Amino acid sequence: MDKEICPRCGREISWIEKRVIGSRTYLYAVHRVGRSIKKCYLGPEDTYIYVSKTHSNDGLIFWGLIRSDRLKLYLSSILQALSSSDFSEEDLRDILFALRDAERVIEEKLRKKREERRSRALTK
Ligand SMILES: [Zn+2]
Repeated sequence: MDKEICPRCGREISWIEKRVIGSRTYLYAVHRVGRSIKKCYLGPEDTYIYVSKTHSNDGLIFWGLIRSDRLKLYLSSILQALSSSDFSEEDLRDILFALRDAERVIEEKLRKKREERRSRALTK
């Protein structure tokens, strides 16, 4: 299994700690260094996206836990890689299917957010 790397200090993450303060959850990367424990503050949970794989290829690095602003950066470099590389027909088809899946997931999330906003507005 791949170890997840801390986006703050670059060390392996032993585990993720969640701290709930009020209505928000904050994440800390916990590092076991010898006998001691070191923690890096990562930020509020809702600015992070969990991905199952940690890998680096073509200059793209996916953390086990990535900030949404970084995800947008990754997406723009993916688009750049797509337009500047010569992929096979099969690869292009696979990529297209993956993007359509992503689109479906995003549309679904947007729909839920809009519904939540509407029901909040109604209860006010
Ligand atoms: Zn760290």
